[in-house]
Amino acid sequence: MANEDKFKKVISHAKEYGYVFQSSEIYDGLSAVYDYAQNGAELKKNIRDYWWKAMVQMHDNIVGIDAAIFMHPTTWKASGHVDAFNDPLIDNKDSKKRYRADVLIEEYCAKIEAKINKEIKKAEKRFGDAFNREEFVSTNGRVLGYQEKIDTILKRLGKSLENEDLADVKALIEELEIADPLSGSRNWTDVKQFNLMFGTKLGASADTAMELYLRPETAQGIFVNFLNVQKTGRMKIPFGIAQTGKAFRNEIVARQFIFRMREFEQMEMQFFIKPGTQKEWFDYWKDTRLKWHKSLGMGDDNYRFHDHEKLAHYADAATDIEFNFPFGFKELEGIHSRTDFDLSQHEEYSGKKLQYFDHEDNASYTPYVLETSIGLDRMFLAVFSNSLVEETLEDGSKRDVLKLPAVLAPTKAAILPLVRKDEALTKMAKDIVEDLKWDFNVVYDEKDAVGRRYRRQDAVGTPFCITVDGESLEDHTVTIRYRDTMEQKRVKIDELRDLIKAEVDVKHWLMKMQ
Ligand code: ATP
Repeated sequence: MANEDKFKKVISHAKEYGYVFQSSEIYDGLSAVYDYAQNGAELKKNIRDYWWKAMVQMHDNIVGIDAAIFMHPTTWKASGHVDAFNDPLIDNKDSKKRYRADVLIEEYCAKIEAKINKEIKKAEKRFGDAFNREEFVSTNGRVLGYQEKIDTILKRLGKSLENEDLADVKALIEELEIADPLSGSRNWTDVKQFNLMFGTKLGASADTAMELYLRPETAQGIFVNFLNVQKTGRMKIPFGIAQTGKAFRNEIVARQFIFRMREFEQMEMQFFIKPGTQKEWFDYWKDTRLKWHKSLGMGDDNYRFHDHEKLAHYADAATDIEFNFPFGFKELEGIHSRTDFDLSQHEEYSGKKLQYFDHEDNASYTPYVLETSIGLDRMFLAVFSNSLVEETLEDGSKRDVLKLPAVLAPTKAAILPLVRKDEALTKMAKDIVEDLKWDFNVVYDEKDAVGRRYRRQDAVGTPFCITVDGESLEDHTVTIRYRDTMEQKRVKIDELRDLIKAEVDVKHWLMKMQ
């Protein structure tokens, strides 16, 4: 299936099977805002829990907090968001459409990259088993030429953005003859900066109301609580504070379903360290976070690091973990070495000392910070899109199956009486539900032929179907059917709990990180 079709299928499947709905759909929806439905809310919660357990429960030096969305407005002056949380915008005078100037240039480069991939595919076909990808990429003249072009463009873009040279960004768009993707017009305005924070007001009266922002990241709630947590938790450096919660950004380009939303959720962890040790911790967290992703078994080749050319105002090193989404490799998580920028800024703006006394060194210092920051919704999209496959079965029929990692699946098992009209069977199936629901999310399903029920559970991502039939009444055994292989086994009802637990237990999955 072409990537574009695959992505369309992901979106429609997410709606059809109760994962994601357009917000306020009965009023024609709200752009780039989505609601999680009955299954989506469970999947999202399971991803959040999987992250929380890996970060907080498994590290005795990381604790979690839950800070408010509203923060004192000076927070955002101190953090640099009021002055620098901008995207470079450009309007097309003919189509009146607005674009992120840097994205237009990056998309231009992605087209060149597609040409490189085409060359590789061609060569792969020509050389067959003898094909050596690395050697080809590093020696083929055409590929090298394309790559050099990409590197030159991105370097110049990085430099102009860093120097706030927006005129050069426009010049680059003109030199590359980039046209509006919709209308084909090259009639562009100048590039302008646009702040991404949403403003709001606190208080009833117009004169006394305080101007606030909805937080654009959860990190600042951690920084302003650094000393409170350190003191009350008697934390010793190195230690981390984790948090999950909503963040808000007035994104200009927001077209990729839940990949880029205006209201989204982050899972962030700020790790406070001794100055000078940031390189070591940067490498540690890169490695640890990649292991977390890989533990879910979604294909090791679907991840890559992308080191930043242009560093944010607070960082001395930064990398993204990119995932192979249906529309290509894109940022899923950021790992940033934030230096002492945030704590120093909050010290300056609040007038309060935010220092740590190191008993070993007998000295105080402002800690450095290493951040891991992942979008929960993006992780949801990665998991969901990667899991959705269309399989052709031996008899030529097709099945849509959502091969979610069992630890994340909203429902762990569906209990199905073979026939609805047999009261003894339905009672037994309901008894199994009553018994298992203490440990797992399970559902009871008696409608339609059992084959159709299997398909329905496959499509919604339930790892196990448990069928109760005539034999069950005699010997207390049931059929357990595995979603991914469709293998069926006869097992004792008493064994079900352990069988399911072995596959869905968080411990079983997290241990793969070791
Ligand atoms: P991008 O370059 O894609 O805009 P970013 O570099 O601005 O992302 P960060 O500020 O590093 O993102 O935020 C950390 C994480 O939060 C990102 O890796 C991403 O997973 C998530 N995220 C950021 N913006 C959005 C958004 N608008 N919608 C959904 N998730 C987001």
